[in-house]
Amino acid sequence: MPKSINPATGDVIEDFAEHGDEAIERALENAAIAYRDWRRTSFGRRSDLLVRTADVLERRKEELGRIATLEMGKRLKEAVAEVEKCATACRFYAEHGEAMIADEERPGPAARNYVAYLPIGPVLAVMPWNFPYWQCFRFIAPALMAGNVGLLKHASNVSQCALEIEKVLIEADAPQGVFQTLLISSKKVEPILRDRRIRAATLTGSEGAGSAVAATAGSEIKTTVLELGGSDPFIVMPSADLAKAVEVGVTARMQNNGQSCIAAKRFIVHEAVYDEYTARYREKLDAMQVGDPMDPATDLGPVAMKSGVDDLTDQIDRSVAAGARLTTGGAMDGKGFYFRPSMLEDVGEAAPAYREELFGPCAIFFKAADIDAAIDLANDSDFGLGGSVWTNEKSEIERFVRELDTGGTHVNRMTASDPRLPFGGVKRSGYGRELSREGIHAFMNAKTVTVD
Ligand code: NAP
Repeated sequence: MPKSINPATGDVIEDFAEHGDEAIERALENAAIAYRDWRRTSFGRRSDLLVRTADVLERRKEELGRIATLEMGKRLKEAVAEVEKCATACRFYAEHGEAMIADEERPGPAARNYVAYLPIGPVLAVMPWNFPYWQCFRFIAPALMAGNVGLLKHASNVSQCALEIEKVLIEADAPQGVFQTLLISSKKVEPILRDRRIRAATLTGSEGAGSAVAATAGSEIKTTVLELGGSDPFIVMPSADLAKAVEVGVTARMQNNGQSCIAAKRFIVHEAVYDEYTARYREKLDAMQVGDPMDPATDLGPVAMKSGVDDLTDQIDRSVAAGARLTTGGAMDGKGFYFRPSMLEDVGEAAPAYREELFGPCAIFFKAADIDAAIDLANDSDFGLGGSVWTNEKSEIERFVRELDTGGTHVNRMTASDPRLPFGGVKRSGYGRELSREGIHAFMNAKTVTVD
């Protein structure tokens, strides 16, 4: 049974009843019926729905923000900003979606040759709790603009957010069945994905979940987009603006209470500035106020689940046993799922932190002798989501851009998603792209049309 627990206190907020087989069948049928009409709507009508959705999100941002904070512990300020970002994505596709998927004339054998970009049908979205609204809206906005309809299976600890997302669409006057939330366990994903009314799936989450969903989808010849874990490098070279690299480096690791797929997780610092960088970084971490995510003075709230504290503690303990040093931070006693902002240094290849994703407020540090060593270290990872590099040397920038095996490289700034730019990873961080032009094309039929 999906359960909401307040991470700041550990108290249960609400137990939710799962949707049974009958409700699932009804939702699938609703989606199929809704799609028949929605696919034929004008771009103007789709765009109007997205604008109304953005209006509702903006009007309700404080209330929706509080719900996310209570359910998964992110700081209220960040939760409200997340809702605003969802509205921005809706407005972006409302304004630019039509041009991205307009028919494209091409040279060809017939009198007229063109590509018509058409929707593909109901898409199942399996989403994680860490950005409980944003992960969903970055799928919903392009999907609805494309003429698809959506079904959401959200993470089991954020059922309130999941239901609120459906309410937002209803308040925006979305036709019945165009977007629906299913409160189901992950076991129910497979039969739904095998249902012939579902045409594709998008999953944001862990490698295990991604691999399970992709395997099922593959056996049904259905397309998938996977946005999975990451252990992004944050590389600091001697020419960098160190003060800025420290400040942004702390935010890039600690935002969202340390639980972002694109958080800077591995700090690879040139040996010429390593001591200064780490000393300044530690000073900033030690000054952070850890506490109630509703309090505007708080710098770091709790992690979302007790298992988050336990997993991080275990990864740090095993890394220390393998020779790494925890130079500040660690788990906190008492109520709620709190973890101090932490630093692990001297992380050798044998330490779990070298390869595993640390999904909490702990930065890992490596010393690199030169740019070759920095690139080798950065690429010695199964993940390849984003990466941030700090240097003012043109030739170094070029090498990082060309040689880092990641879905994004951000120079002298932190990795962040933006509706105007594609987002996604390589290697075990997944495949396919969300957002921008690439995101709306992820679930479309590029139909070839020749006319004589
Ligand atoms: P998770 O455990 O994989 O859960 C994600 C979603 O998948 C949840 O809805 C979950 O449902 C479902 N799920 C889990 N196992 C499944 C299975 N075998 N079959 C079908 N569905 C399954 O991930 P998480 O712990 O919530 O999120 C953290 C991970 O997500 C991190 O690795 C993070 O880096 C990654 N992430 C990636 C991105 C990106 O854009 N690349 C963004 C955010 C997070 P239940 O909750 O019911 O288990």
